[in-house]
Amino acid sequence: MPQEAESDTQDGFELSLREHRKSGVRVRIAPSPTGAIHVGLARSALYNYLFACSHGGTFVLRIEDTDVQRSTEESAQAIIKGLGWLGITFDEGPYYQSQRLDIYRKHADQLLQSGHAYRCYCTPERLAEEREKAEAQRSAWRYDRRCLNLSEEERKKFEAEGIKPAIRFLVPEGKTTFTDLIHGSITREHKDIDDFIIVRSNGIPTYNFAVVADDHLMEISHVLRAVEHISNTFKQILLYNAFGWEIPQFAHLPLILGEDKKKLSKRHGAMSLEEFRAQGFLADAMVNFLVLLGWSPGEDREIISRQELVKLFSIERINTSNAIFDMRKLEWMNGEYLRAMDTSQLLTAFHDWLGYQGISLPREYASAEFLSRALPLIAERSRTLDEVYDALLPYLSDELTYDEEGLNKHFRKDPEGVKRWLLLYRERLEKLHEFNKETAEGVLRELVEELGIKPGLVIHPVRVAVTGRTVGPPLFDCLELLGKERVLDRLSKLPQ
Ligand code: GLU
Repeated sequence: MPQEAESDTQDGFELSLREHRKSGVRVRIAPSPTGAIHVGLARSALYNYLFACSHGGTFVLRIEDTDVQRSTEESAQAIIKGLGWLGITFDEGPYYQSQRLDIYRKHADQLLQSGHAYRCYCTPERLAEEREKAEAQRSAWRYDRRCLNLSEEERKKFEAEGIKPAIRFLVPEGKTTFTDLIHGSITREHKDIDDFIIVRSNGIPTYNFAVVADDHLMEISHVLRAVEHISNTFKQILLYNAFGWEIPQFAHLPLILGEDKKKLSKRHGAMSLEEFRAQGFLADAMVNFLVLLGWSPGEDREIISRQELVKLFSIERINTSNAIFDMRKLEWMNGEYLRAMDTSQLLTAFHDWLGYQGISLPREYASAEFLSRALPLIAERSRTLDEVYDALLPYLSDELTYDEEGLNKHFRKDPEGVKRWLLLYRERLEKLHEFNKETAEGVLRELVEELGIKPGLVIHPVRVAVTGRTVGPPLFDCLELLGKERVLDRLSKLPQ
């Protein structure tokens, strides 16, 4: 029974989209579980997933954990969970390469027997020395095939010395061409490819070898992965040919760069999926944003639902040029998704986020009644759930922090005048039998008329006095949300 990845998605891809898998399309992602899930991996997973969905194909998860020093089960689980949050689930797997070592060994033996590979006893020291020499002469280093034609005796001697051999692939003469589904035809001369190691002296296969055995045995039809793997693809094709296996189709996805056009850095998008989630980005917005990092629907459209993505996604529309990670665009998009939510969706999303962050609201403000009034007003002006929470703080606690700029602008220029107006306003509010946004507005309008001053002269300082902020939902909505008692209380403790 294939194992479904854990999914705690807020709004997953519709199951119906993934039913009736009949086609021969089989794709996979093959992350190394050595750290947090980053944008590049999430995008690769999404593209593979959409491709599988739109072709009725199968999506496989393979954990490439042969680097025992750096791989952890915790990271594998975080990858599954992070993708589950985005609504990306798997039909097969996770398969773990560390549990398949016998399979790789068997296939390496096959290549040794067919003469496509040979044992190499060169020590790391010797290889390092050779490499240094080549560097000193400014020539590219390639393994000199010293171990290619060792006699049985020489081999025995090395083994008697306790040297464990690595296994190298014997790169044939010639050149290889393949047609990348995104980049078109690409050729490489074999003289530029080293006799690369397929199994290390400790018996662990290298990435290029394990990936070919696995992609073949798992019947992968299309390999969609990052562009930096193009040079590996040539080595992998050589291996497919040596085994006489069918070669999958390759599509190498464009690089994702920061706004500075450099590799993604902390300042430019190099956050883990967990960090995006913690900052209050929505899974739907994240999916929409990620898909546009290197793909476009061909029209000038930015907001595209999951359902539409499954229909529209195609490899043909993946760009060859680098994608730029634009944080402001993500924030804008997230804001659009926030605003498109109805109250109950907003409540669910907010509660999920609070749960993820381990935040519990004070009981009196955690009620659905209060939040149903507050969240839509606040979300209207927020880009992330983190901002929603921040804008909600003045309603959750009476410990206000006053915005310094707001104080300078609206209080400190004429402290006595402002104080007098606000106390007059307070008096009128106090007398209200029915306290709501309309009545609160009515008495303010009356007051400014009587005083002969502009409404803003009272509205702005009232906002600072009751919320500590200079921005937020319309003032009278804020007053209604806070309720009469707290408004009167805050207006009697004016900031300095
Ligand atoms: N483990 C490889 C990586 O994370 C997989 C590359 C591939 O998809 O072949 O880059």
